[in-house]
Amino acid sequence: MNDPHAGHGWHMWADPDAQAAWWASAACAGADPDLFFPETRDRWKVAHAKRLCNRCPVLEPCRDYAMPKRLLEGIWGGLTAAERDRLRRADRRRQRERNA
Ligand code: SF4
Repeated sequence: MNDPHAGHGWHMWADPDAQAAWWASAACAGADPDLFFPETRDRWKVAHAKRLCNRCPVLEPCRDYAMPKRLLEGIWGGLTAAERDRLRRADRRRQRERNA
């Protein structure tokens, strides 16, 4: 049977809107979802997930996809949700400074 989610790995259940073709090239496609959504602040899992991201050919589109989605949990584009929040805050601060 043809699995429509094949090649998209955990992204499809993490975010059903994630239909972009580039998911098929994700380094994490066959990875354990628990690595990218650790239940606790498991540093080993976070580090392991980030290592996969750092050699992923679609890191940039993945990060660009995740950045505007404030409620998205887990590690996307090599960043945890907290790291993405910090980047958003820094971007907003820079924007305010430019407009001041
Ligand atoms: S950057 Fe990380 S989370 Fe995004 S597709 Fe690649 S391995 Fe998966």
